[in-house]
Amino acid sequence: MSKYEFRPTRPHPAWIETPQEQWESWTWQLQNRITKLDDFKRISQVDSQFQVDLEDIARTQTDFDFAITPYYFSLIEMANSNCPIRKQAIPSSLENKKLDFELIDFPKEESMMPVPGLTHRYPDRAMLYTTHHCAVYCRFCTRKRKVSDASTALRSQQISQAVDYIRSTKQIREVILSGGDIFSLSNDALGELLDKVRSIEHVEIIRLGTRNLVTLPFRVTDQLVSIVKQFHPIYVHTHFNHPVECSLEAQQACLKLRRAGIQVNNHTVMLKGINDKVETLRELNQRLLLMGVQPYYIYHCDLTYGTSHFRTKISDDLGILRSLREKFDWSKDSSLPHYMVDTPGGGKIELF
Ligand SMILES: *Cc1c(COP(=O)(O)O)cnc(C)c1O
Ligand code: SF4
Repeated sequence: MSKYEFRPTRPHPAWIETPQEQWESWTWQLQNRITKLDDFKRISQVDSQFQVDLEDIARTQTDFDFAITPYYFSLIEMANSNCPIRKQAIPSSLENKKLDFELIDFPKEESMMPVPGLTHRYPDRAMLYTTHHCAVYCRFCTRKRKVSDASTALRSQQISQAVDYIRSTKQIREVILSGGDIFSLSNDALGELLDKVRSIEHVEIIRLGTRNLVTLPFRVTDQLVSIVKQFHPIYVHTHFNHPVECSLEAQQACLKLRRAGIQVNNHTVMLKGINDKVETLRELNQRLLLMGVQPYYIYHCDLTYGTSHFRTKISDDLGILRSLREKFDWSKDSSLPHYMVDTPGGGKIELF
């Protein structure tokens, strides 16, 4: 038996009376997200273990909203102020610190848009951002300049324009549907979009970018899977950063996709004090493989404004990756993800 268990997530005491059926409903989870300072206040009244600095949250500049699903919140180790889930999801006034060399749009995605909402940087791949809504807003988000801002969602006429661009650009063989989070779309809207993209003859692969497997695994319903699997070959790219996120619920969501023939690849961002340790990454990778998920990329946290408290040094990252390769007997070479660094406007570079 594997030494890694996949445990069910116990709802935090604030939701102890919620019937299981509601708890497992993704719409209930979205409706009951923590989005206001008062929500934290209420929870700290219910749970004296929950250490939270309300004043610090209030001081955090608010151009990037916060939102946490009850499920993801329940993964937090309440009494631990360094909990890796807490650091990813609960706002901190450290986000106010903006350094001279940090940028609003670090990868220059906005300037590489032939049509609104579609970045075409690599000849054969194009990335379409439809919605900028996510179940949880990750505090280190590289796209926080627009993520959480509902006004930046593409209108249906702009989506048509983007699809027309893909149709008329023959060298595009892979389309990445992202955001935000593509599983924030309704089933119907996602089905319609997939139908349009799949009808383009030269599009071979469709990739879906979502963090719902991590932050709201209940979103992966049988109905969603039955829609998505009509459009093979489909790859789902997700974003687990820490072994604690690999719960039983997350495992079930990943396996559901895998059973429908959908390959799931994972991107991890190296985050200071969260996952920048050999043991943590080793366990994360093992757990991913046990969930049927292929580790794909580990990114250096890029130079997005207000993320310096998350950023490691590239030289330290490389040391960690070297130890991972040397110390452990990987079941196969391909299970060690590639280490990528994004450059300002120049695209990704593989450093390891
Ligand atoms: C990362 C990225 C891709 C996909 O790159 P892969 O190396 O295939 O994962 C495509 N377009 C843009 C704009 C990107 O940033
Ligand atoms: S899910 Fe992705 S796009 Fe959404 S906040 Fe997190 S990192 Fe940003």
